[in-house]
Amino acid sequence: MASTAHFNKADSQKAPPLPLLPADNEESELTTLLKVYLKPKDIQKIWLAYRFSDEAHHGQSRRSGEPYIVHPVEVACTLARLHLDAPTILAALLHDVVEDTTITSKEIEKKFGKQVSELVDGLSKLDKIELQDATEAQAENFRKMLLAMANDVRVILVKLADRLHNMQTLEVLSPEKQKRIAQETHDIYAPIANRLGLNTIYQELEDLSFKYLYPMRYRAIQQAMKASRGNRREVVAKITVAIQQKLIEMKISAEVTGREKNTYSVYKKMSEKGMSFSQINDIYAFRVIVKEECDTYLALGALHALYKPLPGKIKDYIAIPKANGYQSLHSSLFGPFGTPIEVQIRSEKMHELAEAGVAAHWLYKTKDANLTELQQQTHQWLKRLLEIQSDSPDSLEFLEHLKVDLFPDEVYVFTPKGKILTLPKGSTAVDFAYAVHSDVGNCCVAAKYNQELVPLRAEVNHGDRIEIITAPLAKPNPAWLNFVITGKARSHIRQYLKSIKSEESSRLGAGMLNQALKALHINPSSIKESHWKKLISDYGLKNKEDILAEIGLGKRMNVMVANQLVGFMEGSGHLKGQQKQLNVITIKGSESMAIQLASCCHPIPGDPILGFINKDRGLVVHTHDCSAIRKFKLDPEKWLDVEWDPNPDRLFKVNLQIMVLNERGMLAKISSVIAESDSNIDNVNVEESDGGHFVNVNFIVQVHNRIHLAELIRNLRKINNISRINRVKMKNF
Ligand code: MN
Repeated sequence: MASTAHFNKADSQKAPPLPLLPADNEESELTTLLKVYLKPKDIQKIWLAYRFSDEAHHGQSRRSGEPYIVHPVEVACTLARLHLDAPTILAALLHDVVEDTTITSKEIEKKFGKQVSELVDGLSKLDKIELQDATEAQAENFRKMLLAMANDVRVILVKLADRLHNMQTLEVLSPEKQKRIAQETHDIYAPIANRLGLNTIYQELEDLSFKYLYPMRYRAIQQAMKASRGNRREVVAKITVAIQQKLIEMKISAEVTGREKNTYSVYKKMSEKGMSFSQINDIYAFRVIVKEECDTYLALGALHALYKPLPGKIKDYIAIPKANGYQSLHSSLFGPFGTPIEVQIRSEKMHELAEAGVAAHWLYKTKDANLTELQQQTHQWLKRLLEIQSDSPDSLEFLEHLKVDLFPDEVYVFTPKGKILTLPKGSTAVDFAYAVHSDVGNCCVAAKYNQELVPLRAEVNHGDRIEIITAPLAKPNPAWLNFVITGKARSHIRQYLKSIKSEESSRLGAGMLNQALKALHINPSSIKESHWKKLISDYGLKNKEDILAEIGLGKRMNVMVANQLVGFMEGSGHLKGQQKQLNVITIKGSESMAIQLASCCHPIPGDPILGFINKDRGLVVHTHDCSAIRKFKLDPEKWLDVEWDPNPDRLFKVNLQIMVLNERGMLAKISSVIAESDSNIDNVNVEESDGGHFVNVNFIVQVHNRIHLAELIRNLRKINNISRINRVKMKNF
């Protein structure tokens, strides 16, 4: 491993020590890194995890021929450099154990604790999802999905370290695989590292992707950079000294370094700005790190006094940070003999964040910060990003999704073809079906999540591969409205119900019209098509159904329509000896769309009833003795005779007022009697007690009909301490 780990680090001079933990007291890179910030007890545990992982992976080797354990140890090293906590290092060492060996996550939990096993599980979950051929939009969604699935930011950090090492050892794979993995790294993982501000990891991922995607260009730039390094060194040293002296003169304490651009950023500049290599190479870049934020502007002033700034080239990322929270002052200067110079000026704190981003909180955590505090700080950091980026729509959108990993409100799922869909959290299979297409939603009958059959109301989870089973004749179910949460699903189901509603209205309208015709002793079937046609054109409607629907909805009076039709018939001599018995409108109970049972008197089958045509609500049914009837203006044309269907198809609400002794357990007693009488309680409301012994309780219960109600009341009377039971026909609560 040691030989391949640094093959592409042209800039690093020293070969890293062997990454393995000491077999017998020998120092390793990982232990050296850990000793800096972890307690011996934690290091001991990490050592056990190393042994455990090594044993579990026993017999497996990497493509390079090295033992497998080299890989998790390298991943752990990357994370140890960021000073991540012991559970993260443990998860790094164990990250492939559950996936690649017979060890279960239960065993991990038993040996290393719940936190570690959860991190490992999170990682295995990420490994399972895969994106086939990514378009740019798909890539963005996939990045969001990864972030959303890792509900602990440490999972993403391990994943990035894992990817980094895979990239560092990509050489052993076939060129096709190299290209595919490099492309994925460039599309998915490098942007995540960048957005999380993990600059060091981001740069290396980009450089390595570039190396495998464009090997020739990479090599050419590398060679050119190497060739010019000697000349540059002298110039860099000179300018560094000049800057240092000026800052001392101005009494600003700062650290000044010359920096070399990485291969990919040189290439990016060449291709994006159309510059030649030497144009870019002639620019000298420096970094000035001062103690406090206020010193940054002083240092900028000092540098501008030393070298003239290029007009319009000053960027204040301190006042307006970049999307990933990066803060710095940038300025371009005319150096000695006109040498172009770029400087970055930042405080120590800003520098930490610029290098480690979201991990900076671990890297520089105070001694006794615990996990919750760290999560909180991380969250604060993410929140601050959101605030500072509120006017940049692109990054805002990204960060809003980043927020998901702490407060999830969106879910990312796959279609059978591998496309990613974003749904609000709590979405169901029906929401998904409508998100795919309204036809799929309207005809869905069943759903499969990851090959497993689930109910249509089942909630979707991150990364689920969802398949919807449709049937050509299937129809939306009104009950879906109880669980769908997306606007699209809701509006399509409602639209369907509305079309049903108009069917129902026209059925009702037909009944109402027949009733009016009956009063005129006309048989509806004797009305000719030509009469209807005339009426349709008179009203400016499309068809007969529309007229009937308008009657049903109370928009037209049945009597008027009947009279008009009779007028046509008389005109054509069609009225002779037709006097057939016609039905009154029957109320079955399921007509809820166009016929409503009044909530003032709650009519139930067996009650004498009257229908009242309401312009907006269609037909409202009241009891004969309802007190509300008196309130309506006496308008006989708006009243209709209605009667109950002999076989109603549901339970009906009725309002009972029960006066009972105010004692413990009374409500429970009443409730159980109601249940035993095959009735349901729809609503209960206890009236404010005036301190007396008795209290009024209002129940809305469901019964089949008057007989059922009488039986229920009889049973209730058997309860001791009930003083009165009334059916209420005017109260509305
Ligand atoms: Mn791995």
